[in-house]
Amino acid sequence: MLSHQLLASHLSYPFQYFESVDSTNDIAQEWLRKGADSLSLVIADEQRKGRGRRGRIWYTPPNVALAVSVILKPRIDCASRVSMVGALAVYDLCQSLNIDNIGIKWPNDVQVKGKKISGILPEAVWDSDKLLGVVLGMGINVRNSLQGELVDIATTLNDETELELNRVDLIAYLMKRIDYWYGLIAKDDLHHTWKSRLNTIGQEVVITGANVRIVGQAVDIDENGGLLIKTADGSIQTVLAGDVSLRPKT
Ligand code: ATP
Repeated sequence: MLSHQLLASHLSYPFQYFESVDSTNDIAQEWLRKGADSLSLVIADEQRKGRGRRGRIWYTPPNVALAVSVILKPRIDCASRVSMVGALAVYDLCQSLNIDNIGIKWPNDVQVKGKKISGILPEAVWDSDKLLGVVLGMGINVRNSLQGELVDIATTLNDETELELNRVDLIAYLMKRIDYWYGLIAKDDLHHTWKSRLNTIGQEVVITGANVRIVGQAVDIDENGGLLIKTADGSIQTVLAGDVSLRPKT
């Protein structure tokens, strides 16, 4: 079981810990509005209404996973890069556990052998037209017993490593890597490393969104993180991360 005391002995960042919440992102957003510092974080042992993009559900059952939302205050022109910071930190965490076959599915799902081990949800918080910050929500499966639709599409750290897992140590390491990548948020190195870790380039994909469906080959990434798709007629279309889903073409 996580506890405030244990976390306090391992974390050098301001944090709030809850046994059970609807969503750590909601609490972090409120805290940001009240003036929380950058790199403050909200941790919960369980999320009752964890969410993914576009109203999807993110499951964080008690005792077996990580739900962490980190408050960041990037320059407005770097705000969209917060999701790269999250994906790279989770990738590093997997690597530190000697896990093989880690890849980032564009834009920010961390996968192991093509199965999702983590979901990342960045949410910008505004005060009218002023960006107050971005809440970087991360859900990581540690030793979940996967059920239903997740059996085929998801995995857990425990399924992929022989190493002993301690969730407090995992959070401490994750924060160290977030701090590191956040320090590089405006630098080319962040974009290069993220791009080099994507497993999407070269894949035949289907992109779907509210008003869009594109089928083709993912061929490259532009400097803003947009995905370039080569369609059957040879034209290149750029897809921005946001409200689209990417699936391998079957
Ligand atoms: P995609 O790009 O795959 O369409 P997404 O990146 O928008 O989806 P997210 O918003 O990151 O997806 O996450 C929501 C989805 O993740 C859910 O629809 C569900 O399929 C899956 N999911 C929910 N909980 C978990 C979990 N604990 N582990 C792995 N996958 C999960």
